[in-house]
Amino acid sequence: MALIVQKYGGTSVGTIEKIGNVADKVAACAKNGDQVVVAVSAMSGETNKLIALADEMSKNKHAREMDVLVSTGEQVTIALLTMALLDRGCDARSYTGAQIRMITDDVHGKARIKEIQSEKMKADLDAGRVVVVAGFQGVDENGNITTLGRGGSDTTAVAIAAALGADECQIYTDVDGVYTTDPRVEPKARKLDHITFEEMLEMASLGSKVLQIRSVEFAGKYNVPLRVLSSFEEGEGTLIALEDDDVEQAVISGIAFNRDEAQLTINGVPDQPGVASKILGPVTDANIEIDMIVQNISEDGCTDFTFTVHRNDYDKAHALMEKVSKELGAQKMKGDDAIVKISLVGVGMRSHAGIANTMFDTLAKENINIRMISTSEIKISVVVDEKYLELGVRSLHDAFGLDSDGQLKNL
Ligand code: ASP
Ligand code: MG
Repeated sequence: MALIVQKYGGTSVGTIEKIGNVADKVAACAKNGDQVVVAVSAMSGETNKLIALADEMSKNKHAREMDVLVSTGEQVTIALLTMALLDRGCDARSYTGAQIRMITDDVHGKARIKEIQSEKMKADLDAGRVVVVAGFQGVDENGNITTLGRGGSDTTAVAIAAALGADECQIYTDVDGVYTTDPRVEPKARKLDHITFEEMLEMASLGSKVLQIRSVEFAGKYNVPLRVLSSFEEGEGTLIALEDDDVEQAVISGIAFNRDEAQLTINGVPDQPGVASKILGPVTDANIEIDMIVQNISEDGCTDFTFTVHRNDYDKAHALMEKVSKELGAQKMKGDDAIVKISLVGVGMRSHAGIANTMFDTLAKENINIRMISTSEIKISVVVDEKYLELGVRSLHDAFGLDSDGQLKNL
């Protein structure tokens, strides 16, 4: 007998018929003797509809009331799913976030979970019931409804799994697992059988949008094995877990990319203490997130400073930099918002030399110029011109033997 938390996303519960299919799956699992907690999203499109209603109602930001509103989508799904389970002779009960005391901080719209009272859920499970919980929502210490940010039901499921010490947290979605890269860019992308928490975090934060990033952080912190699998097809999906010494690790697990970047460069600023902070201070103060940063000393006692921001923040950052570069007496300043970031991700990098070189060599053969490079223990990222995204991803996918028909080249 296993204790399993299952999460079904919006597309998996998008219609009455689909909710019925989910009920069939859950009931089969319970019949098999497993204890099951199910966390669900709102039916697909519902959260967006609720947000649109609020926009129609008011031009102002009413964060508390927004959470009262958008949390209702999930409440519909838990009731419908529980009815379907009961109709199938499977004992079940639905609960809102408040009812299971999913306690969060009071940051409306992106609250963080602080604690969950698991006694009630345990009592139900021990009584042979399936527990159906509304994803995405919680309450603060004063009982105000909060939500966990878009895609937050993933985090609900992982948090419940951690609180209950579940054997596995299964995220059912509309894809059958995590892929080596986006199949829309590289049709030869392959589903991964397993990937580590660390790698998944890099893949997720680099733009592969399979899971809410916070849910992966949470799973890693509490070591909850996470499995991503399809609601519509049979299969083992992708297991996200700690590194397994028994499994031979691929050198590179995947290639992530990000189309939303823009680059800013200030050339020839005096090479003095405090310069980096003078450049980036105004950007941070304007609440603009900075991604990559590169600084290089040139011979004349000056330094060149380049960083990247989200493309939506480009105009704002550009204006700030024009001001800063004048103040600092920089030689020139330029920007470009037609760039992309491509990253290789793999824990195998730790024990393999030459990955960076193979990457640069591969790009060079395609005549792709690298504008920026940054590395971490398990990732190498390059910034290239936007027009090279597809070519870059495909050639690297091939070079590192990730193609579905490919073989690992000698590295
Ligand atoms: N319904 C929420 C959203 O659309 C939460 C979720 O689906 O995970 O973002
Ligand atoms: Mg989702």
